[in-house]
Amino acid sequence: MSCIFCRVVSGELPSSKVYESDLVVAFEDIQKVAPVHVLVVPKQHLASIAELSPQDAALLSDIQRAIQSVIAANGLAESGFRVVTNHGESAGQTVFHLHFHVIGGRVLETSLG
Ligand code: 5GP
Ligand code: ZN
Repeated sequence: MSCIFCRVVSGELPSSKVYESDLVVAFEDIQKVAPVHVLVVPKQHLASIAELSPQDAALLSDIQRAIQSVIAANGLAESGFRVVTNHGESAGQTVFHLHFHVIGGRVLETSLG
């Protein structure tokens, strides 16, 4: 298995998990850009958000549950946070397994790129 996040999901690669359900896992980013930097990742391999469809409603609601859990665990509703997903190299995607960055715990730059 060559996909790095499939290997994290299977447990072949270690990670600091903060949330897990049947469909998703959330773990700390290995190179945090802020005090809170968690990746919410579907267990199923999808290359990016472009492969998500309305048929994936159950997965989308699990992703939102995971995001809510990260928000609550870190008090991010009060302090502010950002959720980002990248598609394609020109947008900065480096791991081609869908993931949502949840970033917070400091003042974030306002630029979106
Ligand atoms: P992207 O650039 O694709 O939007 O984000 C990929 C993210 O995955 C980066 O923030 C990078 O630090 C993180 N990352 C890459 N490899 C690993 C890994 O093996 N473990 C963890 N926990 N994060 C990783
Ligand atoms: Zn994968």
